[in-house]
Amino acid sequence: MAIATVNPTTGKTEMIIEPHSAEEVDERIGQEHAAFEELRGTTFEQRARWMCAAADFLEDQAEGIGELITVEMGKPIAQSVAEVRKAVKAMRFYAENSADFLADAPLEEPARVGASAAYSKYEPLGVVLAVMPWNYPIWQVVRFAAPALMAGNAGLLKHASNVPQAAMLLDDLFERGGFPKGSFRTLLIGGAEVARVIADERVAAVTLTGSEAAGRSVAAAAGDHLKKAVLELGGSDPFIVLPSADIAAAADTAVTARINNNGQACIAGKRCIVHDDVYDEFAAEFVRRMSELVVGDPLRPETQVGPVATEQGRQDLIDLVEDARAKGATILTGGEPVEGQGWFFAPTVIADLPDDARLVQEEAFGPLASLYRAVDADDALRIANQTAFGLASAVWTEEPAEQERFTRELDAGAVFINGMTVSYQELPFGGIKRSGFGRELAEVGQREFCNLKTVWKA
Ligand code: NAP
Repeated sequence: MAIATVNPTTGKTEMIIEPHSAEEVDERIGQEHAAFEELRGTTFEQRARWMCAAADFLEDQAEGIGELITVEMGKPIAQSVAEVRKAVKAMRFYAENSADFLADAPLEEPARVGASAAYSKYEPLGVVLAVMPWNYPIWQVVRFAAPALMAGNAGLLKHASNVPQAAMLLDDLFERGGFPKGSFRTLLIGGAEVARVIADERVAAVTLTGSEAAGRSVAAAAGDHLKKAVLELGGSDPFIVLPSADIAAAADTAVTARINNNGQACIAGKRCIVHDDVYDEFAAEFVRRMSELVVGDPLRPETQVGPVATEQGRQDLIDLVEDARAKGATILTGGEPVEGQGWFFAPTVIADLPDDARLVQEEAFGPLASLYRAVDADDALRIANQTAFGLASAVWTEEPAEQERFTRELDAGAVFINGMTVSYQELPFGGIKRSGFGRELAEVGQREFCNLKTVWKA
């Protein structure tokens, strides 16, 4: 794939960027490695100062960077600006909290291990490679980079090939704040070259956010070289509605959960699973709201749904819908690409999916929701857990016993009760099953790329 900005609203190529040569990649990894040697000797206070200065820069530029995001990947402008502000918050959060998150943890009774003192400490691992997706081009990178750099690691970014301008903006963001030269670097390379970077002995670990296919290949390369890997992969999250729920509120939130980011979020509520007693009421509300969404130019403030980010992404939606239609599913609204320029796809709701429809198992990355009728709570759980994914989930019920049961029995890295899944810097984020392994965010996410060193003293 060419490394280029192709505006999904118009389909026009706005910029093509030359990829880095093998020599340039080597040089950049070398800069990182040297920067790590410097960075590991700095204090939390110094790094926090630099992180806050970089956050200030990002905040000052939020509007312009928001526009850049919208031009590169098509999300509505207000969401793009909000993404930049969310990244700023996370940078300040890790600047403020890393010293506590990574503080030495002494053993209270060292005599139990025959020591006068014993404790564990968190040390940085070195150069960490981040392979990142285009759907949140600033937030996804910052949620890796802020904790990693604050821990004293150096960060190497291989961004998605369709967001090169975001990638280059991030290239010197942390240096602008004062981090040593080379603490964070972008590599303009394709996915096929990632394995070679993982193999480089100067690279200590890798994190990938992306598809299952990319996850397999990164995990294989990391395994081959016995390097730590964190994988944040796809999801087909259930959004479960039970009879005691506030149906209007659930339907309203289900729409936001599905179409936020033009429907291209890993944690979007992609499958609405609704109890038979309230199915008709929910379906009517949900379909009405989905069909009334304003689709159009994402730079216009009134737009709620912009284009799908790539032509292939839209084709994938078309194929999923055609497969479902051919197998007898019911299209309740949408189901077609929008005519005209750009890669728009009408907000779509599909019901009555037979078990062999691809949508039952596969992730739909766009404004496409599936609706399932569950005969009872057991059936809702069965449908929710029937995919190979296990990222997040939402369940709507006012019954405490049901809340407790679904929290326990949903196969997912997160359960949101009477709300929609959102990533918060304060909460761990990640999945199980084929949604990946490891966690991002909160303190646990920061510790993923640290050496937990045990110290024992006679
Ligand atoms: P993708 O194709 O896997 O791309 C993601 C990144 O991986 C890009 O930088 C891509 O580079 C790179 N890549 C692709 N193939 C690779 C390979 N064989 N080896 C190494 N790197 C490779 O993902 P996408 O389809 O664009 O992005 C959407 C996916 O990301 C969805 O499944 C979504 O659910 C998931 N996602 C997950 C999370 C989470 O936190 N769990 C968050 C956001 C998105 P190129 O662009 O150069 O191909």
